[in-house]
Amino acid sequence: MYPFVDWIWNPISGRCLHNCSYCYVKRIAKRFKYEQANPHIVEAELRANLGHGNTIFVCSGCDLFARDIPDLWIKTVIGYAHSFKNNYLFQTKNPERFTSPLFELSAARDILCTTLETNYFIPEVMNLSPPPELRSIAMGKMADAGFQIMITVEPIIDFHLREFLFFIKRVKPIQVNIGADSGHNGLPEPPAEKIRELISRLKTFTRVVEKNNLRRIIA
Ligand code: SF4
Repeated sequence: MYPFVDWIWNPISGRCLHNCSYCYVKRIAKRFKYEQANPHIVEAELRANLGHGNTIFVCSGCDLFARDIPDLWIKTVIGYAHSFKNNYLFQTKNPERFTSPLFELSAARDILCTTLETNYFIPEVMNLSPPPELRSIAMGKMADAGFQIMITVEPIIDFHLREFLFFIKRVKPIQVNIGADSGHNGLPEPPAEKIRELISRLKTFTRVVEKNNLRRIIA
């Protein structure tokens, strides 16, 4: 998903509470006709040698910071990760939990990321995910605390340009990744011109990475 990541590490697995309508993990489960288990610790992953000098995406297949994940699990995962000298990417749609002092995230080693598909909250798409505005506010707090912040606008959904830019600018992102729905989920997508305008405005204050799947809309 991100070219700078060396590998992914999934010490927590199972169904994600947020239940986004476009979730690729749910899509894979449906395609291969298996039932997603409840969230659980994958014990073997907590014995894995994570090496050193790597950039590792933690829990790419679920949401480590969803509100049904016990504090102890999160503390265990972060503690184990930090026992190896790597950099870590933590991505969640519930970044308010990043701000908890319970979790000893490291501004020196951890990159924090959230998804902002749009500025609007669309319940039928986002289901139990916190609204984009709350994600933006929480990430702003982490930026103020000195963390490197990355934003992923994927799958992009139609937006209000000025408000969306405000949500993104507030978090002082080092990078914004933009991609389109690759799962035919019938999302309300913005027109090509609007996306081009967004990208052009974003480039005035951050690095923008356009995912290949965006070409379907702005080719
Ligand atoms: S937050 Fe991520 S893993 Fe969870 S349902 Fe949404 S897309 Fe899937």
